[in-house]
Amino acid sequence: MNSISAHGSRHPPRCLSNFRVAHAEAVADKAVQFRIVGSDSETEGSVTGHSLEVLNKNYQGPSLFVSPLTLLWKGAKAPAALLDTAMHGYHGEMRASATLRGSSTPSTYKCPQCGGTWFRFDATFRYWDAALDLWEDEPEIAIEDYFNGFSLSGKCTTCGTDSTISEMEKL
Ligand SMILES: [Zn+2]
Repeated sequence: MNSISAHGSRHPPRCLSNFRVAHAEAVADKAVQFRIVGSDSETEGSVTGHSLEVLNKNYQGPSLFVSPLTLLWKGAKAPAALLDTAMHGYHGEMRASATLRGSSTPSTYKCPQCGGTWFRFDATFRYWDAALDLWEDEPEIAIEDYFNGFSLSGKCTTCGTDSTISEMEKL
């Protein structure tokens, strides 16, 4: 049987359908990372989402965004939806997501180093044993959509700093 990371690198989750995958790589036993670019191969974009520290007053840590996440490519007229945990990921697919999610006006992510808003993006999807069990029971299912963890990292195109823009588990 295929490993989930080998399968996933050939089958990007459906939330990436608004994008092109420039590079896919199994980064661990149960994780796949994609370099995402625009449908016209744009490489530089800004991201909007919802600040975790605004939604959860008890959160202390680096600035992180939760979904819905949207990317706007440099030069593009309209943003493209990237991820919404209400419908994407293991529990989202089952319409049973309990993950913290923003519903007010989204904000634009800023580089923690220089305040810049343009990045190149890597998205990582992680799968837990629950997804492997589901795949075993239903081999025909699009298991790539049933990820349990997601992170979005960005390399600031102004100063070159890498930052973690979003990091979500228990999806
Ligand atoms: Zn920067």
